[in-house]
Amino acid sequence: MSLLTSKIVFTIGIVLWLTIRILYQRQQKQNTIVDDRKTPEEKVIRLLVVSGILLLPLVYVLSPWLNFANYRLPVWTNELGIVILAASLWLFWRAHHDLGRNWSSTLQIREGHTLITNGVYHKIRHPMYTSVLLWCIAQLLLLPNWIAGFAGIVSFSIACLTRIDKEEQMLLEQFGEEYEAYQQRTKRLVPYLF
Ligand code: SAH
Repeated sequence: MSLLTSKIVFTIGIVLWLTIRILYQRQQKQNTIVDDRKTPEEKVIRLLVVSGILLLPLVYVLSPWLNFANYRLPVWTNELGIVILAASLWLFWRAHHDLGRNWSSTLQIREGHTLITNGVYHKIRHPMYTSVLLWCIAQLLLLPNWIAGFAGIVSFSIACLTRIDKEEQMLLEQFGEEYEAYQQRTKRLVPYLF
């Protein structure tokens, strides 16, 4: 598979990712927020992740500016990258679907917020972040460039380190023992592992 093909595949992935996000963001506007933990730090981290997983890959696809940092990858990595990209998009959509009206792009509690523990939330507590992790792996496999390829995994790792603890603390305060029990029987990102 040529570099052009893998760039086109990744761009289609970006379009699908944005479509899912925009559709759910529009539905979400009607739901009242009762606890908002959006901080300036949180906004910076979101910007970092959006740059890492979407903007820098787009710069790489649409311009020659990052070509100085290219390297070569074997063909099989592209094929594996497509499979992982598809899995990431499926999980991204399912996590939005299963969270339903409880979903927010930042740390928020909505009016009538319920704890979701079914569907893709049955074995792991953060399937949406798992989908972003899969996305970052696909990015590494499809974009052979030290900047555009690695920007996703670097920015996502920073975001995970700062966000998951805060999110779980917020949900613990909201749902108490119910969330504690959920924490005990599930893993954060990878079923049965971690
Ligand atoms: N971390 C989750 C959700 C990301 S969206 C995931 O990766 O799948 C972030 C919002 O989802 C947070 O504001 C929080 O209020 C909400 N949330 C996270 N887990 C939840 C759950 N199990 N049930 C209901 N709401 C949840």
